Amino acid sequence: MKQQTGRCQCGKIKYSLREDKVISGHHCHCKDCQRTTGSGKATILFIAKKYIDLKGQLKFFESKGTSGSNVRRGFCPNCGSGVLSYSKQLSHILFLKAGTLDDSSWVKIDSNFFTKSANNWDDVDKSIKCFDANPGFMFGLKTLFKSF
Ligand SMILES: [Zn+2]
Ligand SMILES: [Zn+2]
Repeated sequence: MKQQTGRCQCGKIKYSLREDKVISGHHCHCKDCQRTTGSGKATILFIAKKYIDLKGQLKFFESKGTSGSNVRRGFCPNCGSGVLSYSKQLSHILFLKAGTLDDSSWVKIDSNFFTKSANNWDDVDKSIKCFDANPGFMFGLKTLFKSF
């Protein structure tokens, strides 16, 4: 089992995780991800909380997701880097921001979320599965199952 590491820009938040426990990878083009990243999309990895060893105290901002869930986005209170987020209703699965990894060359992206709000200056990768909004119930079940 390979350990991977990552951190926020200033280094107050650091983490390591088990690479083989990453469930899936996604580009999320939703408007909230665009705002919080200041970019065209967020690229996130799904992983169960128990497989990430996090050092440092994240600050969280909570907002309502389109499906009614409470999304909590964690960022470094010192440098503001977004590190991870999760849904309050599914709190044992974390959505880790792939760009915070020290080495992300091993990352595989499975699908795109919210292609309906993608910008024409940040093209959707059509070679992988696309969801026009949230990936839906069956997808959630699969993720839940794989997280144990
Ligand atoms: Zn920081
Ligand atoms: Zn999003």
